Amino acid sequence: MKPVQKISLKEYNTFNIDVNALYSFFCKSEKDLFEILKSDFVREKKIIILGGGSNLLFTGDVEDVLILMRNKGIEIVEKDKETVFVKASAGEIWDEFVDWCVNNSYGGIENLSLIPGTVGASPVQNIGAYGVEVKDVIEELEAVNIKTGEKKVFKNIECNFAYRSSIFKNELKKQYIIINVTFKLSKLSKLTLAYGNLQNEINKNNPSIRDVREAVIRIRESKLPNPKLLPNAGSFFKNPIISNQQFETLIQKFPELVSFPVGENKIKLAAGQLIDLCGFKGQKEKGVGVHEKQALVIVNYDNADGKTILKFSEKIQQSVFEKFNVKIEREINVYSAEF
Ligand SMILES: Cc1cc2nc3c(=O)[nH]c(=O)nc-3n(C[C@H](O)[C@H](O)[C@H](O)COP(=O)(O)OP(=O)(O)OC[C@H]3O[C@@H](n4cnc5c(N)ncnc54)[C@H](O)[C@@H]3O)c2cc1C
Repeated sequence: MKPVQKISLKEYNTFNIDVNALYSFFCKSEKDLFEILKSDFVREKKIIILGGGSNLLFTGDVEDVLILMRNKGIEIVEKDKETVFVKASAGEIWDEFVDWCVNNSYGGIENLSLIPGTVGASPVQNIGAYGVEVKDVIEELEAVNIKTGEKKVFKNIECNFAYRSSIFKNELKKQYIIINVTFKLSKLSKLTLAYGNLQNEINKNNPSIRDVREAVIRIRESKLPNPKLLPNAGSFFKNPIISNQQFETLIQKFPELVSFPVGENKIKLAAGQLIDLCGFKGQKEKGVGVHEKQALVIVNYDNADGKTILKFSEKIQQSVFEKFNVKIEREINVYSAEF
């Protein structure tokens, strides 16, 4: 296989950043991937993997080899009365996969409806929404080692899943390409409805997983900016987790802070609220700004480049740190020319 030379990535990332990729491969099958990895052209080069480009920010041209995961396929590998194991290829569009599961009455991921991106990226940051994280239903996944070309099965426990995190975002970052994910789904209706206003939105006795999917879609469409109209990458920052001790000091000064206990001696704060209290909600400069309804979402309003967006995000981080003494980490991945 030969790379496609110099393409604009504008339509391949939801921030609409107009950078070029010098060498791109569109990987449509597992066989493609093995061929790409063992070709002389690729062997000694650095590799970047791209799914739907909905969780990253390009700050310069991509001079390394870019592999766009476009392999498709959904297969039932095993089922019994209660459970079904479904294997989906990395290049499947996440929300189309959720829709397929809901149509077949396989429950477990309906709360994750309408999250952009691909199946292959879903374990990377352990996507989550409305009280469900994808780690709750991942049985195992297959990934290929970029250096050796060997395929390895990672069972759920080996993925070190945590809040918006996994081994593929940390210890094994840039080392493996996920080619498929096997999900353990339920044929019984076990719904998760306790989160936020989901139950109110459904407003029905004995809802089905289709009702849950539709309610989640309605809530998301009313709250989140559509990247096709307002280019963005969802939450730019993670919610910070601090110690009980730090929280006790903070709450004296800012009694309005929203907090959620997480595990022993740890408190999660709402990054959006911290950003809002720093006065950034709705603020715009140099073509970039914070969304007027969602302080966690940075929007590329007017063809800003990646560096401008990154600088703006650093200004927010600095401001939150100065006001609250709390560091907010980026959720999204930044790709610079030096990557
Ligand atoms: C409007 C909007 C709403 C969002 N809402 C949510 C939400 O509610 N919850 C949530 O968790 N996220 C949310 N996101 C973030 C994003 O949709 C998810 O992180 C999604 O899983 C990213 O998928 P992708 O295919 O676009 O990944 P990309 O952005 O293409 O890649 C993300 C990272 O994963 C790596 N990667 C991608 N595919 C593979 C693979 N096959 N193997 C190895 N590494 C890979 C990339 O190299 C990169 O580091 C939202 C984004 C947007 C734009």
